[in-house]
Amino acid sequence: MIVVLVGPPGSGKSTQAELLAARCGIPLVEMGEILRDLSTQETPEGREIKRYIDRGLLVPEQVLNHLIAERLQRGNVRRGLILDGFPRSVSQALTFDRMLRDVRQKLDAVVLLEVPENVAAERLSGRRTCSRCGASYHTQFAPPTRPEICDRCGGMLQLRPDDHPDVVRARQRVFARDTAPLIALYEERGILHRVDASRGVEDVFRTLSAQIRCD
Ligand code: AMP
Repeated sequence: MIVVLVGPPGSGKSTQAELLAARCGIPLVEMGEILRDLSTQETPEGREIKRYIDRGLLVPEQVLNHLIAERLQRGNVRRGLILDGFPRSVSQALTFDRMLRDVRQKLDAVVLLEVPENVAAERLSGRRTCSRCGASYHTQFAPPTRPEICDRCGGMLQLRPDDHPDVVRARQRVFARDTAPLIALYEERGILHRVDASRGVEDVFRTLSAQIRCD
C-alpha cells in the first residue's frame, strides 16, 4: 500500500504520517525531514537546499528525484510506503507515477488534511523542535516537562526557522500555487480522501484510519 499525505503547513501531516506508518507497520518517508537533515551538511548541495527551506520555497526537483528513487528501490517497500510531503506539485506527481511504474507499484491513496488557516497558524507558532535530536513539542498541546528543554535528550528547544510568520506565509503561498492543483489530479483518479484535520491528534487519526485501512 502506497499512501501520500498532503496538506498545508500546520495541517499535522508529519504527526499523522508517523501514526499511520506505526499502525500499518510500513516505512515512512518524510521529505521535509530528509531535506532538513541534508541542509545541515556543509556541502554545496546542503547549502543549496538550506537556501530554499529558509525561504519556504520548494527545493528543485533534481535534488529530490534520486532520494525518492533510492527509497523505492529498497526491499522493504514491497510491503508499502507512507510519504509525507512528496509529491508537492503536479510535476513531482507525474515523476512519481513514472518511478512507481518502474518498480511495478501504484499509488493507492492520497490523504488531504484540511485545516482552517487560523488553526494552522496557532499550531505552527507554538511548535518547538529539539535542536539536538529533532523531537517535536507544542507549547500548548504537547509541552515539554521543563520549558524549552527536550524531555528526550536535554537539548534546547527552538522554533523551526521556517515556522517564523513571514516564512509560513511563503509556504502557504507555495501550497496554494504548487501543491493545491494535486487535489484535482488525485480526485479525478478517485484516490483522494479528505480528512478534517482541525481537531486533536487522536480525533484526526481516528477519521484518517477509518478511511485508510491497512489490514
Ligand atoms: P515540511 O517539513 O514538510 O513542512 O517541509 C519543509 C520544507 O522542505 C518545505 O518548505 C520545502 O522547502 C522543503 N520540501 C519538503 N518537501 C518538498 C518537496 N516535495 N519538494 C520540494 N521541497 C520540499
